[in-house]
Amino acid sequence: KHFRVRSGLRGLARRGPRPVVHAVDDVTLRLRRGTVTAVVGESGSGKSTIARLLAQLYPATGGDLLLDGKNARAKGGRAFRAYCRDVQMIFQDPFGSLNPVHTVRYHLTRALRIHGRAGSTPAELEQALTDLLGRVHLTPAARYLDVFPHELSGGQRQRVAIARAMAAQPRVLLADEPVSMLDVSIRLGILNLLRDLKEGMRLAILYITHDIASARYFADETMVMYAGRLVEGGNSETVTQRPAHPYTQLLIASAPDPDRIAEGVGPTDAPPADADAALPAALAGAGDDAHAVAEHEAAVVAEAEAESDAPGEPPSLITPPAGCRFHPRCPKAMERCRSEAPPRFAVADDQWAACWLYEGRPLAPDPADAAD
Ligand code: SF4
Ligand code: MG
Repeated sequence: KHFRVRSGLRGLARRGPRPVVHAVDDVTLRLRRGTVTAVVGESGSGKSTIARLLAQLYPATGGDLLLDGKNARAKGGRAFRAYCRDVQMIFQDPFGSLNPVHTVRYHLTRALRIHGRAGSTPAELEQALTDLLGRVHLTPAARYLDVFPHELSGGQRQRVAIARAMAAQPRVLLADEPVSMLDVSIRLGILNLLRDLKEGMRLAILYITHDIASARYFADETMVMYAGRLVEGGNSETVTQRPAHPYTQLLIASAPDPDRIAEGVGPTDAPPADADAALPAALAGAGDDAHAVAEHEAAVVAEAEAESDAPGEPPSLITPPAGCRFHPRCPKAMERCRSEAPPRFAVADDQWAACWLYEGRPLAPDPADAAD
């Protein structure tokens, strides 16, 4: 049976001294078990906000979050606790997400205890720890259990973070730029590990990235985000080989050779510094941390404020352009693009685009209405 998250989310409405920022606006997406869905966008497009809304690290101001048809948006209660276990997250910075004063054993034991999977005897706990490390290919476990994060490489730390997420036996993994801070030579290994977990555990993975070439390599489905909205989506091969939306076409034209990632080289440009990269470790666990959430909100607002409206730059999310938000940069913009936001048109069996160029084609089915 398919897993489904539906969300028509408006993130981060904020009033008072700070401007209102809708980091994410009317986004609906559906994640399926055993499938990687990529959300690709520039820094400041709102893509990390989607992951944080889905993880309920802060509340959405509207919309639904459905997990197997049950709405988990209300805080508290059994449905919410089950949601927090079933939906786990890993972050861009594997160093920032592990507490430097604690060993791997501490991090994993704590996660196993929180999720009631630590067993009832020391031997059972040891076995659970060994299994977790084995699952992320850190073997023999004895070599890794009693070391501190600084004794591990970046890739090993990200594997520990993944193991910690797996301690919950989740059904959904939200991966926010999980390889962009890692050395190019080890990115492929982490993506391949995530792919193995997807297949072995039938995980639904949301892969947030600024790198469309890696989405093509790793994701089954790819969605493209611009200025807080999804503008194109569908089968990854189709979207990356025959992009329909002018913004996706621009992204692909400016991307490094999409085949390089498959050779294990990957794009060599450093990702833009992400305002939300350094969320504290507490957020990766079950609980949430009001301070960190407030910090993240402030970072998103600062990021939005820092954006200019210069040509060639993504627009401010404080005052997004009317109509199609891409129209100030679009080489094919028409008159109506300035005032009317385009709906999702089906451009192929496995592809849709929110662009008036495809007017006349059937509307794409709302993913929220799709049968499981
Ligand atoms: Fe360009 Fe208009 Fe399509 Fe927007 S709707 S991408 S402005 S052609
Ligand atoms: Mg980000």
